Amino acid sequence: MVISQEYARRGLTQPSSVIGEWAMPTILAYGSDEVKEQFALPTLRGELIWCQLFSEPGAGSDLAGLATRAVKVEGGWELQGQKVWTSGAHEADWGICLARTDKEVPKHKGLSYFLVDMRSTGVEVRPLKQSTGDAEFNEVFLDSVFVPDAYLLGEPGQGWRITATTLQNERTQISAGVSVGTEEALRSMISQGSYTGSESEAFASLGHIAALSSAIGALNLRETLRQVNGMTLGPDRHWPRWRMPGSPAKPPPGSSPWPGREPSSLRLRATPSRASSRYRRS
Ligand SMILES: Cc1cc2nc3c(=O)[nH]c(=O)nc-3n(C[C@H](O)[C@H](O)[C@H](O)COP(=O)(O)OP(=O)(O)OC[C@H]3O[C@@H](n4cnc5c(N)ncnc54)[C@H](O)[C@@H]3O)c2cc1C
Repeated sequence: MVISQEYARRGLTQPSSVIGEWAMPTILAYGSDEVKEQFALPTLRGELIWCQLFSEPGAGSDLAGLATRAVKVEGGWELQGQKVWTSGAHEADWGICLARTDKEVPKHKGLSYFLVDMRSTGVEVRPLKQSTGDAEFNEVFLDSVFVPDAYLLGEPGQGWRITATTLQNERTQISAGVSVGTEEALRSMISQGSYTGSESEAFASLGHIAALSSAIGALNLRETLRQVNGMTLGPDRHWPRWRMPGSPAKPPPGSSPWPGREPSSLRLRATPSRASSRYRRS
């Protein structure tokens, strides 16, 4: 968060490994030492580009209903299916991929999480052309794609839990980008005279953006503090001290969600927007 703020303060675009920013925390949480060793530094250096092979034509919002199958074969798994809306697949070296390994159990329990080499035999990437003329998304066809055992993340059937880790990190990373620098960008657009609306429209837009980015920034700060304190991200965050054997299921009312720290030291402070004084009519 501090690094993002510093980039924004200087009007610079922060380099990003995009999907690597949420693939990597997932690999660090669930990967073997060898897998962490293989991917961590090259991803951080920007040498490896990742894509996210989750959504399918019949499984968007209902992600757990996906149909791509992974069948156990000698030394690994064979993947068969189709993904869609895969951002950056045409440039990606590796993909994080969710596939069904067990049809007999409830849908959320039959999924497993794989790391797929996008140059494997059987991977076909077909770009989806947007109305802008660009093609940032793709369809990805997986036709008998072999994935070695080493690239199954976690255990078979653990895919949904691992995917939650990925998506929680995705939300935090994207919200960091949205909350920092947006207000400043609009402010400089207005001061340079490139905002085409009236002064009152500029005032309203700036207020809207400032309120939105402050709210997203506060949520992001809360999630980051949870992470720093060793908790999982998102609504299913755990309360380590209170989940000890023999302790109550929930923390007592008024207790600190950040064990070992005074809540007041971590209280979020709302930064008042300066929009009102900057654009007040003289
Ligand atoms: C910019 C962008 C980048 C993306 N990049 C990737 C990527 O890299 N990899 C990837 O795997 N996916 C990616 N996606 C896909 C995305 O994460 C979602 O999976 C997908 O957009 C939702 O699925 P769908 O388009 O099939 O919509 P649907 O699931 O068909 O939903 C369409 C509409 O119906 C509503 N709806 C759905 N189910 C119900 C219900 N039961 N009751 C009421 N309303 C319902 C939804 O809220 C939505 O408004 C990307 C999406 C966007 C917008």
